[in-house]
Amino acid sequence: MKHYLIGLAALLTQFVAVAQNKKQPNIILLFSDDAGYADFGFHGSKVMITPNLDKLAKEGVTFTEGYVSDPTCGPSRAGLLTGKYQQRFGFEENNVPGYMSKNSAQLGDEMGVPVEEKFMGDYMKKLGYSTAYFGKWHVGGADKYHPLRRGFDEFYGFRGGARSYFPYKKDPQEHLNKLERNYVGFKEHAGYLTDKLGEDAVDFIERNKKNPFFALVAFNAVHTPMDATNADLAKFPTLEGKRKTVAAMTLALDRACGKIMDKLKELGLDDNTIIVFTNDNGGPSDKNASVNTPLSGSKSNHLEGGIRVPFLMKWPKKIKKSTQFNQPVSTLDLIPTFYAAGGGDVADLKDLDGVNILPYAKGKVDASPHEKLFWKKDVRAALRKGDWKLLRFPDRPAELYNIKEDIAEHNNLATKYPEKVKEMYKDIFEWESTLERPRWLLKRKFENYDIDRMDIYR
Ligand code: CA
Repeated sequence: MKHYLIGLAALLTQFVAVAQNKKQPNIILLFSDDAGYADFGFHGSKVMITPNLDKLAKEGVTFTEGYVSDPTCGPSRAGLLTGKYQQRFGFEENNVPGYMSKNSAQLGDEMGVPVEEKFMGDYMKKLGYSTAYFGKWHVGGADKYHPLRRGFDEFYGFRGGARSYFPYKKDPQEHLNKLERNYVGFKEHAGYLTDKLGEDAVDFIERNKKNPFFALVAFNAVHTPMDATNADLAKFPTLEGKRKTVAAMTLALDRACGKIMDKLKELGLDDNTIIVFTNDNGGPSDKNASVNTPLSGSKSNHLEGGIRVPFLMKWPKKIKKSTQFNQPVSTLDLIPTFYAAGGGDVADLKDLDGVNILPYAKGKVDASPHEKLFWKKDVRAALRKGDWKLLRFPDRPAELYNIKEDIAEHNNLATKYPEKVKEMYKDIFEWESTLERPRWLLKRKFENYDIDRMDIYR
């Protein structure tokens, strides 16, 4: 009898262990906006104060070659949220003149991801997750594109592309920038928006601590307008102007991320929660004084400074601390990754361009998850293939770089390796033949406008 009981106890322990192991992890995606590649302590910044995100980097894997699918807000988010190159459904442009809202230089109601496309929220709901979206949306302002129609149970944020961090005293000219709880529950917050988004995410976590949850916290920090609190500004006495403000905004971003991470620890959820931190496009150094060194370029162009972003992942149960993965990964990979982590079968996701990067994050595979990664806007395009990167321009010959040896893209090797240029040009053409036409073309008034300059409307 005693042996039987011991045997039963051992069996039960094993069962509990298996059950716990199979327990779906919670998933939190912390997503910043327009942050500079170099503007975090974990990327070597001596100016920015980001202790919480630095800690996140120490507790998991840093993807040193993390990419987005576009160097501007809207298309990058369309790629992230569908797991597909957004050009496949024509979401190629950011804010197209003629389609923008009458009152502001931002996307209008109709520039949205087609309703037939499945979203990250839809995939996670299918696996039984409670889902919530916080912050900036920017993938469709009309009701038909609303987050609550795209697999998110809850929404607290704004549908547009940029808004004040402080509450509007009267309705803003741009209705898409009003702060909205769920559907049309418009009410301005008190205080500073970055803090408020963090607090709301914490509230969602508390309410869902007993079931698996997925929260996408899309901070508008550190996108313009350059709003910061006096208390945060005071932490950077040696800085001036926009640089001082962006540092204060980044400090608030880090503080909000820290509050979310602290809450997970407090509730004992930390161990089985995946946290990813990344950013939607490179820093626009002119607009918010962000810094992308050692990368060249900035938001809106296809140099690494536009498309390579900070990219961290932590999952204490599965991913080793303080590790690095030095091959290209993409925000397109996050749907398959989260889906696999949540117990889904990635074989269900046949039509996506991303791959499950968990095996790479765990250090089990050294190879590159992507043979090729593409970028395209109008005539401009880029391809990363192995260590090579080709940039195609409308007004000058293509440039070729060995990214591993020349991260700053200073040494153009196109004339030295013409065959490589030819091969990669052909790869881009082949990929382009699989895409839809851009959905929003310049309207008549702008038809003589230099198309390559369009990104000033970002
Ligand atoms: Ca952005």
